[in-house]
Amino acid sequence: MTDWSSTVELAGCNPNWKDNISSLLDDIEWSREIRPIVEKIRNGQRLDLTDGILLYNHTDLFEIGLLATCSKKSRFGDYVFFNSNVHINQTNVCVLSCKFCAFSRTKRSKDAYSLTIENYLDELEKYSKVVDEVHSVGGLHPDWDVDYYCELFAAVKSKFPHISIKALTAVEIKHLSKVSNVSIEEVFSKLINAGLDSLPGGGAEILNDKIRDIICYGKETSSEYIEIHRAAHKSGIPSNCTMLFGTIETTEDRLEHMFQIRSLADETSMVQCFVPYPFLPDSTRLPEAQLATSNEILRTIAISRLILDNVPHIKAYRMNIGDNLAELALNFGADDVDGTVGRESIMHLAGATSSLDYDKYQLGKLISDAGYIPIIRDTKYENFSHYAIKPPKRVRRLKMAS
Ligand code: SF4
Repeated sequence: MTDWSSTVELAGCNPNWKDNISSLLDDIEWSREIRPIVEKIRNGQRLDLTDGILLYNHTDLFEIGLLATCSKKSRFGDYVFFNSNVHINQTNVCVLSCKFCAFSRTKRSKDAYSLTIENYLDELEKYSKVVDEVHSVGGLHPDWDVDYYCELFAAVKSKFPHISIKALTAVEIKHLSKVSNVSIEEVFSKLINAGLDSLPGGGAEILNDKIRDIICYGKETSSEYIEIHRAAHKSGIPSNCTMLFGTIETTEDRLEHMFQIRSLADETSMVQCFVPYPFLPDSTRLPEAQLATSNEILRTIAISRLILDNVPHIKAYRMNIGDNLAELALNFGADDVDGTVGRESIMHLAGATSSLDYDKYQLGKLISDAGYIPIIRDTKYENFSHYAIKPPKRVRRLKMAS
């Protein structure tokens, strides 16, 4: 269990970050092309589509990283956040068949699975002493309604009251509303009463309906995604928002996606974290995908930091981008690394190779190796403590031969 020796100065974003940023920007000799954007940021002006395109086309990737790092450091100094969580994907049975998805199965598939509440609790029990968050997303099961999930969440809270439940993507909420014949607001009301603490960001893909019709036909529309997150916020729970890039979208589409999230965050102030991650192609049905290079991944993380000036946290989603790139992303605007993870299927079936058994020591070391101070946090970024890196006992020093 985490010892929350919470300190006020660690409690999230520095409210005076816009004042801080000038002195950080002053220390750097910026290229002529980037100077108008630097000035906008210094003056607290928002970046627009033209700025975003310039940043995507700018040849010096490291200069973009430096700019995003100034923005991050103005908020959090040298702190980088992580949490101790486990991902449990409750079922791979899904009524949809998104082209980028390697995870979903029909009910009749040989490798279809649906965890019973008992199975789920057994899985969670294996990690319950070392995590304080369970992240649960899965397929759209045709037989599971909102009452099923209420039973599940209530059982989790009853057995593991210290574990925060971050669960169900926007499309799963929409599916529960349809299957249970109740409004989105009522779905949230029931789930929150049962124990739901926050909403993960998955399912946003790219918020452009023409692209969604090709890569994930049948999923919620762009406006429904925003509407469901707005409803979560109105019901009192925060959410994360994601962006899946490297399928068939243009850079303009990525930027328009960020602007939609920025508008939502302006309205509710309850988007706590943005999670941009690239499409992974294994076992998917999207041969026309462009895929994203490492340059594009780091650049997109940096641009997210610069465009989304009202979303405090930008995540390096190590499970998807891998541990090495996640470490680099901390010098491209990301201030948060997810997480110890424990188990996960959706990304790994699509080709992710990141380690599933990272412990706090390894995550803390990843952050420290990138030049930052690891801060362990809870799901809602409300409690923080410094993480002192101590090698676990199993790491023994080798004796030098005499
Ligand atoms: S991405 Fe989600 S909704 Fe789409 S097929 Fe996969 S599990 Fe189903």
